[in-house]
Order: sequence, then structure tokens, then C-alpha cells
Amino acid sequence: MPLQNYLKDKGVQFQYDTLVTDLDIEFEHADKVTGTKKVKAIITEKASEQTTIPMGSNDYVIVTTGSMTEDTRYGDDHTAPTLDFTKDTMGQSSGWKVWNNLAKQSAVLVIQKNLISMWINLLGCRRR
Ligand SMILES: Cc1cc2nc3c(=O)[nH]c(=O)nc-3n(C[C@H](O)[C@H](O)[C@H](O)COP(=O)(O)OP(=O)(O)OC[C@H]3O[C@@H](n4cnc5c(N)ncnc54)[C@H](O)[C@@H]3O)c2cc1C
Repeated sequence: MPLQNYLKDKGVQFQYDTLVTDLDIEFEHADKVTGTKKVKAIITEKASEQTTIPMGSNDYVIVTTGSMTEDTRYGDDHTAPTLDFTKDTMGQSSGWKVWNNLAKQSAVLVIQKNLISMWINLLGCRRR
């Protein structure tokens, strides 16, 4: 892909078959809400082994939680999309997993997660 080649030429490293499970965050204040939040390391899983990618003071970590494409289920005019999760298994996909783990660390992330859960409820995705 042209973009991938361009980024590789600039020194970007692509790491495949890797699941980001959590971030090691250093909070400035004890309330873990106010003040700065620094990511000290990205915690990942590769071939069932946990690996940690340390971050330097000049590194930026950009996180998107959830994946519109990974969590899409398709239907058509005659077939409803299959909701292959239940209330108990909901939140186990890769995007939700990292979000759940981040939410355990800070109330700020719990609020964001609850807003999304509320939105899913409104769409009727938790009917099972
Ligand atoms: C049904 C549908 C139709 C669409 N049609 C169009 C269209 O026609 N034209 C158009 O331009 N756009 C379309 N889009 C939008 C387009 O697909 C998205 O905007 C685009 O894919 C977003 O790209 P992304 O790389 O940001 O995220 P994604 O494509 O979602 O990629 C994120 C990746 O990260 C992975 N991931 C998630 N969590 C983790 C984790 N913790 N660790 C490791 N990996 C993780 C996911 O598995 C996924 O592979 C459509 C989207 C949907 C759902």
C-alpha cells in the first residue's frame, strides 16, 4: 500500500498479530481525573504472551477504543444482523477489552464508556 510504504520509509514500525490490552498510565493527581496523564507503556498480547512497549517522554500515544468495522454485524432486507454477544459476553472484543481495562483506572474513562453503553442500549443492542 502506498501509505504504508510511505510510513515505513519514514521509520514507522508496523507490528501485526498484536492485541493492545491496556495502557500503563501515570496520573499526576491521586483522584486520577484531574491533572496530566502520561502513558508509561503500552501493554500488549502476542501469541498469548504479554509484552510491554515502553514509552519515552517525547512519545505520543493515540488510542481509539472500539472498532466500527470489527464490531459491525451485517443484515439485509430479509435477514436481521446476528448479535453474537449476550449481556454477559458483551465487551469482550479487542476494542471493548482495552476500554474496560482503561475504565478500571480512571473515572473519566468510565464516564465515556457508560455513554457509549447507553447509546448501544438505545439502539436495542442488548435485547438478549
Ligand atoms: C458497514 C460499514 C460500511 C462502511 N462503508 C464505508 C464506505 O463505503 N466508504 C468509506 O469511506 N467508509 C466506510 N465505512 C467507514 C470505514 O470503514 C471506517 O471509517 C474506517 O474503517 C475507519 O478506519 P480505522 O482504521 O480508523 O478503524 P478500523 O477500520 O475499525 O480499524 C481498527 C483496527 O484496530 C483493531 N483493533 C481494535 N482494538 C484493538 C486492540 N485493542 N488491539 C489491537 N487491534 C485492535 C480492529 O480489529 C481493526 O482492525 C464503513 C463502515 C462500516 C461499519
